[in-house]
Amino acid sequence: MLNDKDLERYARQLIMPAIGEDGQEKLLAARVLVVGAGGLGAPLILYLAAAGIGTITILDDDDVSRSDLNRQIIYRDDDVGSPKSRHAANAASMLNPDINVSRLAVRLKRSNVEKLITSHDIVIDCTDNAKTRYLVGDAAHHFGRPLVFGGAVRMEGQISVFQSSVKGHFGSPCYRCVFPSMPDVKQAPGCSEAGILGPLAGLVGTLQALETIKLILGQPRTLTGRLLLIEGAGSDFIEIRTVARPDCSCCGKPAKDIF
Ligand SMILES: [Zn+2]
Repeated sequence: MLNDKDLERYARQLIMPAIGEDGQEKLLAARVLVVGAGGLGAPLILYLAAAGIGTITILDDDDVSRSDLNRQIIYRDDDVGSPKSRHAANAASMLNPDINVSRLAVRLKRSNVEKLITSHDIVIDCTDNAKTRYLVGDAAHHFGRPLVFGGAVRMEGQISVFQSSVKGHFGSPCYRCVFPSMPDVKQAPGCSEAGILGPLAGLVGTLQALETIKLILGQPRTLTGRLLLIEGAGSDFIEIRTVARPDCSCCGKPAKDIF
């Protein structure tokens, strides 16, 4: 049951037919795991907190650097040198004290991935390194959770949703179906090598927040089976249909024993 404060806080989304009180209760009951509180995580965490996502766990083991501040708008200059997870969690709690925000200053590893993923409903990949991305992708498939993927570098972004082992979406691609092998730094340079423009990271993180909210509400049309590419230089949004690969090393047959 929503209380008077909830009715006021969420008034502008409660009046939407797509949400209503039932939808808001779903949002408040949802548990999401945000892997990475950087350029994508910063706007995403604020939007999810503002929308009343009831349980948000923020995973990041980095400290804030001054070079993060051109895009990671959840942080302030005074935060430089101290843990991102702490400041990101504080910002979310200050925006919305009625939700549960927890933080873990750890990196996602094989040893902690099962517990972290299975204790949440949705996994959101806001990481900046390939090793963690593939671990998140494989684990989301293996443990049956939807994965909201985003990536950004320079003025280019990518967003998709993977639900290969989620009821109603069997047969849709997993992360490895679309990105079969781990690229090296030369093939896919990160932000520290190639640069990144803040609003582009903001766009991708914001679209990830939108997809997450739609998944929680059970809206039928998400980016499952589609990869949205953003070419910021020309303001182009390009959509690519994605398909499962029978020989996928994660979801292909015979089932692989990854974990
Ligand atoms: Zn696959």
